[in-house]
Order: sequence, then structure tokens, then C-alpha cells
Amino acid sequence: MFILILEEFQCLVPPKLSPILYHPLQYCPLQDELLHDCLVYVELEPYVFGGIHLAGVFLLQCKLEDSSRALDKPIMDWSKSDESNLGKPDKRDELSQVSSSLDIINLIVYVEMDFVELEAIEGLRWSWNSWPTSKSEVSALVIPLSIMCTPLMQFNELPLLPYDPLICGKCGAVLNPYARVDYQSRLWVCPFCYQKNSFPRSYAGIGENNLPAELFPTYSTVEYHHVRKSPNPNSNLNPNPNWSGNGLSSSSLSSLMSSSSSLVSSFSSSSLSGMDSRGIGPAFVFVVDTCSPDEELRALKNELLLVVAQLPENSLVGLVTFDSMVYVHDLGYTECSKVVLFHGERELSSDQIQKLLGISHPKHPQLGKTSAIRKQGFLLPVSECEFNITSAIEEIHSSVAVPGHRPQRSTGLAISTSIGVLEGCLANTGSRVMVFTSGPATMGPGIVVESDRSNDIRTHRDLISGHAPFYKKSCDFYKKLMQRFCDASVVLDFFAFSLDQVGAAELKVPVESSGGFMMLGESFESDQFRKCLRHIFSRDEDGYLKMYFNATIEIVVTKEVKICGALGPCVSHRRKNSSVSETEIGQSGTNFWKLGTLTNKTCIAFFFQVGDEQKVQPGSAFFIQFITRYRHGDMGIRQRVTTAARRWVGKRSPEIAAGFDQEAAASIMARLAIQRAERCYARDVIRWLDKTLIQFTSKFGDYVQEDPSSFRLSSNFSLYPQFMYYLRRSQFIDVFNSSPDETAFFRLMLNREGVVGSLIMIQPTLFQYSFDGPPVPVLLDVSSISPDIILLFDSYFYVVIHYGSKIAQWRKLGYDRDPNHENLRKLLEAPEVDAEQLVAERIPVPKLIKCDQYSSQARFLLAKLNPSVTQKSEYTDGSDIIFTDDVSLQVFIDHLQSLAVQG
Ligand SMILES: [Zn+2]
Repeated sequence: MFILILEEFQCLVPPKLSPILYHPLQYCPLQDELLHDCLVYVELEPYVFGGIHLAGVFLLQCKLEDSSRALDKPIMDWSKSDESNLGKPDKRDELSQVSSSLDIINLIVYVEMDFVELEAIEGLRWSWNSWPTSKSEVSALVIPLSIMCTPLMQFNELPLLPYDPLICGKCGAVLNPYARVDYQSRLWVCPFCYQKNSFPRSYAGIGENNLPAELFPTYSTVEYHHVRKSPNPNSNLNPNPNWSGNGLSSSSLSSLMSSSSSLVSSFSSSSLSGMDSRGIGPAFVFVVDTCSPDEELRALKNELLLVVAQLPENSLVGLVTFDSMVYVHDLGYTECSKVVLFHGERELSSDQIQKLLGISHPKHPQLGKTSAIRKQGFLLPVSECEFNITSAIEEIHSSVAVPGHRPQRSTGLAISTSIGVLEGCLANTGSRVMVFTSGPATMGPGIVVESDRSNDIRTHRDLISGHAPFYKKSCDFYKKLMQRFCDASVVLDFFAFSLDQVGAAELKVPVESSGGFMMLGESFESDQFRKCLRHIFSRDEDGYLKMYFNATIEIVVTKEVKICGALGPCVSHRRKNSSVSETEIGQSGTNFWKLGTLTNKTCIAFFFQVGDEQKVQPGSAFFIQFITRYRHGDMGIRQRVTTAARRWVGKRSPEIAAGFDQEAAASIMARLAIQRAERCYARDVIRWLDKTLIQFTSKFGDYVQEDPSSFRLSSNFSLYPQFMYYLRRSQFIDVFNSSPDETAFFRLMLNREGVVGSLIMIQPTLFQYSFDGPPVPVLLDVSSISPDIILLFDSYFYVVIHYGSKIAQWRKLGYDRDPNHENLRKLLEAPEVDAEQLVAERIPVPKLIKCDQYSSQARFLLAKLNPSVTQKSEYTDGSDIIFTDDVSLQVFIDHLQSLAVQG
């Protein structure tokens, strides 16, 4: 028997190709009995690649009897057209016809590492896909070992399993395809800790041809959806919490996929109709600022009434309004409208608020207990109080403002009271406090600015120079509130519509860490607001709210992998075990995080380190498992489990570079940079980014020492310096043109966005539309502006359609309405259609700006372009120039190269 040996080799690594390893079975035996027929068959276990395309198999070395020869080109190609061969177990692929006198063959199998494709299967993007084994080698990588994880990513195929997962008795990992299974003795060996676990009785039928879905090698992700005991004894729900033998057989993967999902959907609908009538749904406390002008309030009230009318019947609702006072509405009182008042100056504890409201607080909260809720009228099922809450919302009127003064707003106390209501009522089913405001808090806890208009609202300069008297105290107030939001699993959403700042910077922490929405705009009458609110309350195909609450993420790792922390909308649970590293990044000191809410797009960056004493063999596999528990919109608890494998590699292995995902790396560095920017000056953050980049390019570039002109980066590194250039200049780091509120918003958004969206935020995209052909991407450079083209620019927050001066003129002359100029009409239409598509998917909806060349609105585009032509350049006709002292990308790269080659 010959063994397929994966080891270090001396041959050029083809670009974008990287060695696979998705399964320990990688050490595939060559079928020796076939060798003498001059054919080498290799059992590739192709199904473990989960649909990833094999790019080729490289025969590296064939040792013949006396001599050896090396081959450096693929001896066989599996192309994408050959997909049908993949995804099926037991498929033996003919490798090649080689000499019959071989005695040692070194083979290496490559797959094309399309990181986007991999992400669509795992929901993960790794900065490095192959990890070195020692700490010193890891630190030499400069960019940390990290994973951008989208826990609830939407997959084309996601098996929903109507039973509980099997858990390893030693390390808590969930049974997964990498476990070794002994069918005879019905044992499985945990790939994380090697513990032998026996299968429960329900798995009696398990066999190679009868596998439960969680063992099926193509499912790196499965979701468990076990509905607990039904109160109806006649219900024919599956009483068995485990898999009960309806295994997936390899032969009919697709049909089983569809049958298992249809099984599950009928299963869930039958059980949940019962759940709806008895269970309570999520709770919503609407917090409305009555200092808003009447016409703004009207628009807001209309939207709120619509939301209330469309809520699922079992949702709980509450209403709090505020100006200089906080009014908690008693929705259970039918005689007349009744409110409990708090003076806005006071800072009250949760207990004080509950006491003043007269709501009880049982010591041991239990899910589903409604006794506490029945006694009060501040939080009621919408089915019971729809009339009262509707009238209460209709009766909201604008408070009278004192001329020359900002309105007196007690936003801080209003939020603290609202969370107090939820804490008192123990609406432990997932809840949101949704704040709608039109200006800054001017009194009480969380104050942003005094109501006297002679005092300006703080700017970045004030924050740096210490001229923001309330800033620190207010931030501290909201940080304390954050803990209450986290403990009670309540989400804080903040909708602020105002021409001025509103205090989003102070309020950011609880919104961010609970995963809530933040939206800053100019008017409640805007389309943006309507779309955002409707999106939040949208329903899935079964009619349940698309809202996921009370989530936790747990990570299980191979012993040699250590967890450093997380950056994103989550809070560390401070649960330490042996897999938690001493090195701390972000929300750290734990292998377990809490999330108030998350969406299909919420993305968390996790950071890792390797252990001190590594005894691992390069070439062997390591595993990371993400276990995400959350409450689905149907109020059932689900567990999504993703198990991923990668490979340890030896020193200076070319696989390290081949497995580098520059896009993931850039978005991870962006998160680290904004985290740093929260406590350092921008120039220090930029210095840190520059230093890191120089070290990085110096390590991974090819160059002759001291010769900048010799500097080269291979293709999967080549865009990285450019990402860093745009990141340095971005509004995330350079805050000069933003208010503290805007900065808070931008950073909050970046800190939860996946790789693709993050990159658009860092380095916006630019497309050119012209008469010459279909739209093409062009350089994000001022030289891309030209009088006879239209540009479509997307920076995630803004989408700009920029008309060149000639096009603008033709449009003004109405040529596009002339049938003889059909082309112009089409040209004008195309970017509009594309822009609509860009904004449709994003929440909050980006601002769409249409502008002509040289108009003032064009600044939104110009501010982001590479200033290759400035006031200092020689003027080139027709091209725009940017007035700036910033260095251009070319100058930046030249500097970088000359520093990198210094070694
Ligand atoms: Zn284990």
C-alpha cells in the first residue's frame, strides 16, 4: 500500500491554489493493486470537499528505480465542469497513467481556494487558511490568525434536524463529520479531545449507509431545531430528542435534502400553532421623543401604528414617551389614559424604577411564566391592548419648546426606565427597546449638551481637547446600561432624525453590544426610515418575525488552538477554559459570547493564537467548531453548528502564503484599527497601520535587499497594501470631516459587517458607464472622471451617480427625450437601475446622491478618490483635480516598497 504523502515540497505554488485539507482521511491510500496496471488510482474522499472544486493533482516526485524525476505540472485536472464527480463518497478517480516501475510517489492535491465559495459553505473567512505550529511563526505573520464568522449565514442547503445534538462528554463539542465512528461498537471519537462517546439507543440503526445528517461529510453546518414537549398529550410530535434512524444515504443526497426539509417544515408548523396560542412572543418597548416637531411626529406615529397593527398577536408591547419628563404608559387601564411620570433629571436604579412602577420581580425567572406580566399594564400582549396602545400613540403631541433653547430631553432616563419595565416584567423572550428621537439629551443622565443654544454640541476637536464636559460621564452611564441590556438580553435600537447631532457617540456602546440598529437621518418622513423599520419587522415565509434573540456563540477548538477574543456586536461571557488564551483581543477571556440579537448578515471577527508547547505534526488537521444558540422568530430555540478543519503547516511552507485571504485580512485589520481608534489619536492608529504593513510586505514580498524596484507581491497579496491605503484615509480613521455621531455610526456598522461589505466600506467601488460598451469597473482615482461618462460610486453608506459635464449638459438640453438619441436615454438609465439594486439589500438604506461634475454634491465622490491629480499637478484638460495634501496611492506604494526592502 502506498500512502499519499503531503509534505513540504520544492515547486512553485500556483497562484490561488492551495493544498486542501478538509478531513483527516486525507492520508489516502493509493490502491496498490492497481499500480501494476500503470494506473494510479487515488481515493480522494472527494465528498469531504463539500463542493469545492478540485483544481488539480500535482505529481511532485516520482522516484523511479534508479533515478528520480520531478514533475511540476498537473497530471490531471478536475475542472469546474466536472463537478458531478464531487460530493459523492467512494468515488475513485483515475489519477493518471504513470510509469509502472514507481516505488514512491509524492502527490499533492490542490483545490482552488476560492475564499468566497468556501464562505458560502462554511460562513467563515480565514485571514490565514493554513496555520504555522509555533507562536514565533504566528507572530511573524504580522496579521493575526482570525476568522470572520457569519454565524447565521444563509446557505443554499442547510439541514434542519428535528432533534437535539449529541455532545462530547469531555469537551462539549457537537458530533460532526470529522468524528471517527465505530459502527460495530456504536462509538464516536471526538476529533477535538479524542474522547470515546457512545451513541444513545436512538442511533441503533447507524451504519455506513445510514448516517445521521450531522455526520454527513458535505454538511460542515447543520441546525438543530428540537421543539420541546408539547403541552398537548395527543400531539404526535416526535417524543425522541435524538436522531432516530432516518439516516441520509449517500446515493440520494439531493432527494433526501428536500425530503428532510419538508419533513421539518411540516413538523414545525404543526407544533408551533400550539405554541403560538399559549406562548408569549418578543417584547417591544417604543420610546418616543415628544420634543420632535409635529410633522415629524406625524410621520413617526403613522409608522408605529403600522408596526403595531402588523405585530404577531403574542408580541408584548410597551410605550414610553419623554420630554423633560418620562411618561410610562399604562396600557391595561381602560377608563382613560394613565401614565406614570418620572422627572427627567433623576438617575434611578432598576430596582427604584420597578418599585415606582409597582411591578413585582420574582427571584427565579422562568421562561414562559406570565404571572408577573398579568399584574401590570406597562407591557401587555398586543392582542390585549391594541386599542389602548393605538390611542396612546395617536395622542402623542409635540411638547412646547422654549424659543432660543434646545428642547429639554431626558433621553437617558427614558431608556433606563424602559429597560426597567422589561427587567420588572421578565419578558425573557427576547425584547427590544426602540428609541425614536429628534435631538440630543439636554438633561439628566446621559446628557449630551445643555439646552442653552449658546453652548455648541461637542465635535471631535472638543473630545480631543477635553472641551466636552458631559461626554465621559454620559458614556459611563451608557456603559453601565449596556450591562443591564446584556443581562436581560434586551436589544437597544436607536433611530435619530435630526439636522444636528443627537448623542449617538455617547449611546453607541449598548446599541453596538446588543446588536441593535442605529440609524441617523434627517427626517422621519424619509423613505430610508420607513424601509428600515419595515425591514426590522419583516416576516419569513411561515409568518414569523425575522428576528433572532438571546443568542450565544460557543467555540470549541483542537487542544493546540487558543482563543484570544472577538470583535463585533457581542459581549464576553468571561467563561474561561483551557482553550482560552492569555492574549486578549476585544471581547476576551472566554470561549462563550452573548449576543442580544443577530441577523443572517451579522459577522463577528474571532482571534486565535497557538499554544505554547506544540507537539503537532505539520500536515495534521486542527478543528474549530462554532455553536450558535438562538431564539428563532417562532420562539423555538435553535442551535447552528459549524465545524471547520484546516491544516498545520511547517516553517516557511508555501501553503502559508497560498492560504492568505487578503480580503478577510483587510476587514480584520479594519476592525482592529477602529478598536484602537476608540482610545488612540488617529495619527497613532495610522502609524500602527503603516508599521504593520511595512513588516508584512517586508516578510511576504519578493525583492532584492535595498532595491525598491525589484519589489513584487504575489497575486493573493497584491491588493492588500491598497486596502490599507484606503483604510488610512477612510472616515473610520480620519474623523476630520465627520461628527462624533457619524463616526460612531460608521464604526458600529463596520464592526458587524461581513468581508464583502467591509471592503466596500474601506475601498468603495467605482463603475464607468459610457457609449463604448457595458459598464466596467475603473480605478478609484480622480483620473477616472471624464466629461462624457457616468460613474456609479458605492461606499456602502453613499451611492453616488456622477454625470460627466458633457452628459449633464446633454441631459439638461433634453436630448435623452429625443427618439434620435435613444443611446443616451439608455446610458442614463443603466446606472440608475444598478444603483437601485445596490441600495435594495442594505439596511439602513444608503443615501443615493445624483450629481453633475463640478457640482457641490460631487464632493461625496471626490473625497474618496485617490488624489493622483491635485492642485500641485500639471493641469490635464478635462480631468478633475482634488485639493489635498494627502499622498496619492502611487506615492504611498513607492514609499512602502522602499521601506519594505530595507528588511
Ligand atoms: Zn471532545
